Amino acid sequence: MLDLHSHTTFSFDGRQEPEEAVRRAIELGCKVFGFSEHLDYDYVVNGMQVCLTDVEAYYKNVQTLKQKYADRITLLCGLECGFDLMAQGYYKGLFEKYSFDYCINSVHVLEKKDLYFAEAFMRKSKKQAYGEYLKLIIESLDACYDYHIIGHIGYATRNAPYPDRKMNYNEFPGLIDEMLKKIISFDKAIEVNTNVEGEESCLPSFEIMERYRELGGRLITFGSDCHSLNRIMDGYAFVVKKLKCIGFSELCYFEKGELRLFKI
Ligand SMILES: [Zn+2]
Ligand SMILES: [Zn+2]
Repeated sequence: MLDLHSHTTFSFDGRQEPEEAVRRAIELGCKVFGFSEHLDYDYVVNGMQVCLTDVEAYYKNVQTLKQKYADRITLLCGLECGFDLMAQGYYKGLFEKYSFDYCINSVHVLEKKDLYFAEAFMRKSKKQAYGEYLKLIIESLDACYDYHIIGHIGYATRNAPYPDRKMNYNEFPGLIDEMLKKIISFDKAIEVNTNVEGEESCLPSFEIMERYRELGGRLITFGSDCHSLNRIMDGYAFVVKKLKCIGFSELCYFEKGELRLFKI
């Protein structure tokens, strides 16, 4: 079992202490656990930039935990970078300075609005809003920093104010294919993220994962996107079962940027 997407008190919204997260992951039988604290350079709430992770302290803390628990679990030190054109140089500098294991590149914000909230979709049809979101993901794939994983594709659907919030393939076949083909040609991994409402739901939808597979996509990973202890590994079993039905037999993770495969 593995889980590459977690936030602790080093992130502005994390509620679990790093070491208690490690202990819980071990209890659950997790073999590879990755920290992916937020770096949301463009994330502004009420006109104020949210607290950025103290990267130096975070990095040191995970190195200590890695050593302490080395005989029980593989711990990874990652970052979740909120894509922003203006922040690219800053992120790049951090990856040159520290030896992070991996980077999750995530789109959270469109036109300065967090797509998690319904207000971001004001006066936009689903076609327009999701179209813009998909185009931004496609643009984010050209980020100048070295990222490995594309985070929670479909984040914009979580609380969007449409009767059918799902990003159905038949509504956006051109953009979804363009995005998936680019991900495949860049050798990046797609994360299956379970931080979404609803029984046996995940981002992206299994419909999109099926299309990814059809187009030749092979690299996938799992992320609970947990911010508290009770969500570590959440949904892992159903995701793996479904991915196997689609034809996937491995998940992947990255150690110092090196691809590792994990049989499921
Ligand atoms: Zn995220
Ligand atoms: Zn996250």
